[in-house]
Amino acid sequence: MTRMSESEKSALTLKIVTPLGVLFEGAADMIIMRAQDGDIGVLPDHEPFTAALGYGVVRAFADDDETVFSVLGGLAEVSEDHVVVLSDAAERQDQIDADRALAAKERAEAMLRQQSDAVDIKKASLALRRALVRIEASSYPLIGGRGMRK
Ligand code: ATP
Repeated sequence: MTRMSESEKSALTLKIVTPLGVLFEGAADMIIMRAQDGDIGVLPDHEPFTAALGYGVVRAFADDDETVFSVLGGLAEVSEDHVVVLSDAAERQDQIDADRALAAKERAEAMLRQQSDAVDIKKASLALRRALVRIEASSYPLIGGRGMRK
């Protein structure tokens, strides 16, 4: 068997764009994204597709590194070896303020516990889902402070 050299090894590029700009652009060997009906794994040479994303964690693996993002919905477009994620809100793991997310979770849960017509259930449920994704993304174990998982 012929081994591919590093330069021949195919890789994906991942670009995550939010209204604030390009959050991330880099190479990855594999990307796992949360689509609306479950997780999708993308490897190099994947056939092109577009998917609506749910609220969830996006994980980009490169060599032994893993970079984790919270992505709150949006669209993923896979073409050739490029993956572009467009989302209204996304954060890289090391940008997430876990205490803020926990406080947002507690606020949303307190709203949902109230049996009052004044509570906007949909708004509170979405706030809870955002907070849970941020908590999930921020709770991945870190190795060397770069968002990598064991
Ligand atoms: P909060 O109630 O704490 O403001 P939120 O869910 O209402 O949370 P969003 O409206 O989703 O916040 O986001 C507003 C901005 O704040 C976005 O730019 C988002 O990336 C950022 N943001 C929200 N929560 C966090 C967090 N826990 N850590 C870092 N950035 C956050």
